[in-house]
Amino acid sequence: MARVVGGERGGRVLLNEGFRYHHNRTARDKIYWKCWRPHCRAGLQTNVFDRQGDHNQAVLVLGASPHIHGEEGEFLDYSETLNRMRLQIRGDPTLPIRAVYDREVVGADARGVENVPAFHSVRSTLNRTRMQQIPPIPANFEEVLIEGVWATTQRESRFLLEQDNFWQYVMFATDQALREHDAQPSTLMGLSSHARDPTISF
Ligand SMILES: [Zn+2]
Repeated sequence: MARVVGGERGGRVLLNEGFRYHHNRTARDKIYWKCWRPHCRAGLQTNVFDRQGDHNQAVLVLGASPHIHGEEGEFLDYSETLNRMRLQIRGDPTLPIRAVYDREVVGADARGVENVPAFHSVRSTLNRTRMQQIPPIPANFEEVLIEGVWATTQRESRFLLEQDNFWQYVMFATDQALREHDAQPSTLMGLSSHARDPTISF
């Protein structure tokens, strides 16, 4: 079955029966693809579908011509592995990329570890994927804004307790941690408001 995998710009790479194609042009009733190898003139036509859409959607092959080389085997495993790792990072950008990579290596046993790309060869791509998911680094403390998913736990409970950009501190705590330390949010708020008064020391 033919399917589209991401490229940096998404939806431009098509895999079919062990060969890799790049988008050539889209006509009214067909999408034309050409083999990614410059000296091979093989082409493929599919139905028209949303190339930026769901990667699991069915793609209908309407015609194909022969290649001058064998299947891409290893290369395809490589791009599929990379794609899987990028999906995981998009799903949870707080995961360290090394952890995502290691998990892929552990899970690769059945498929063959030799087809997992070396870490150094995918690190920058994975980092870039991660940076696309997280807010830009603020230039100064005034610009620090913690909101939405960044202010909650992964179970969507409150995590950000207090933030003061003038005194440049941020307090995080879960309700459970506060209970375990027998602390009330109001107590901590009291402490933090004392912190604004430089005459009181701890
Ligand atoms: Zn070809």
